[in-house]
Amino acid sequence: MNAAGPGGYRVPFARRGSVVGEADLAALAELVHSDGPLTSGVWRDRFEERFRELTGARHALSVTSGTVALEMAVRMLDLAPGDEVIATPQTFQATVQPLLDHDVRVRFCDIDPDTLNIDPVVLESLITDRTRAILLVHYGGLVADMDRIMALARRRGIIVVEDSAHALGARYRGRRPGALADIGCFSFHSTKNITTLGEGGMITLARDEWAERILRIRDNEADGVYAALPAGQADGPALLPWMKFADGVYRHRAVGIRAAGTNATMSEAAAAVGLVQLASLERFVARRREIAGRLDAAVSTVPGTRLHRAAPDSRHAYHLYTFFLTGGRQVRERFVRVLDALGVEVQLRYFPLHLSPEWRLRGHGPGMCPQAERIWFEEHMNLPCHPGLSDAQVDHMVTAVTRALHEAYDPAAPVGAARI
Ligand SMILES: *Cc1c(COP(=O)(O)O)cnc(C)c1O
Repeated sequence: MNAAGPGGYRVPFARRGSVVGEADLAALAELVHSDGPLTSGVWRDRFEERFRELTGARHALSVTSGTVALEMAVRMLDLAPGDEVIATPQTFQATVQPLLDHDVRVRFCDIDPDTLNIDPVVLESLITDRTRAILLVHYGGLVADMDRIMALARRRGIIVVEDSAHALGARYRGRRPGALADIGCFSFHSTKNITTLGEGGMITLARDEWAERILRIRDNEADGVYAALPAGQADGPALLPWMKFADGVYRHRAVGIRAAGTNATMSEAAAAVGLVQLASLERFVARRREIAGRLDAAVSTVPGTRLHRAAPDSRHAYHLYTFFLTGGRQVRERFVRVLDALGVEVQLRYFPLHLSPEWRLRGHGPGMCPQAERIWFEEHMNLPCHPGLSDAQVDHMVTAVTRALHEAYDPAAPVGAARI
């Protein structure tokens, strides 16, 4: 494998979040050489079944991306004008963006500065009689404080959506994301913990009614309320016995239509790879945790840093490796410059959403989530952490991080060190 990433980084942030190899190719070959359909076939059924077993969710339905899973989740909330939704500002924009299509009030909930997940104390203060739902993320693969959050939500009938795009392979007190709330959304994008060849997603659901709706919506049927007609009372022209599709349509009367359907069906090729990837999930997460352990050891030798860690009864999946540099912006700037010069690609995920143009236009802005703002603008750091990194790349990164930290905290040290 070529060790240099885009931009020539010796240690690239992430192009792929998992390893795609011979086993994935074998599944693809089996699919191609079979005479089965290339969509809506047995591979999809197997992938969903396995995903359901693994997460412990009641239903698991595959879709074309994590974004589509989140769009479907928001549809299931049946939001009405004036409703309120509480959301985390520290996430990828797809978590919250579907709300732009609804006339609802979004309340961004400030985060816990140690976990970057929503702070249950702030959350409680934001709940009103109009709160319909909570959209949260398990940041970086560290599961949010779900017992406290669910207790708050259950008492008031609020629906909780867990964006688990980072958290496949994580644990929370023995349980897994996807079954910790009412709806779970997963992504199999190229950089995620497993991939379905670049794009793909899954939605997990606690209610049968939601599963029935999404089965229709993702397959071009309208999101409607249907009533079965009594047998023999089809209101269309007389049907031929083999016309199964028309039979289904004519047997039902629409009582109401909520919205149009779409095509969000995962291809058989994607599902076949997903099934194989799922079998390697534990290995991929173990590698992420191994790299994170080495980075933690390097980072924690320097006073002034803080680690991003799961509680002892839970397991961080390290989709993102995160740590915090305290001591002000200058320290972080020096760190980034040295690390960049040493060929390690640094990224900061994510810019607080309440400061982004689309949410500012809706009345959000600076000062509304002080912890989220302070952390992102002063302390936040992400480093490469994915199974595609070789031992040599990890060794180089650990050396580079150690050196960059020392130079960052010691202004007398030379900045912009030569490549090591
Ligand atoms: C990747 C991601 C998504 C979107 O998933 P896609 O499959 O890329 O559409 C949503 N939320 C979070 C937190 C993500 O990281």
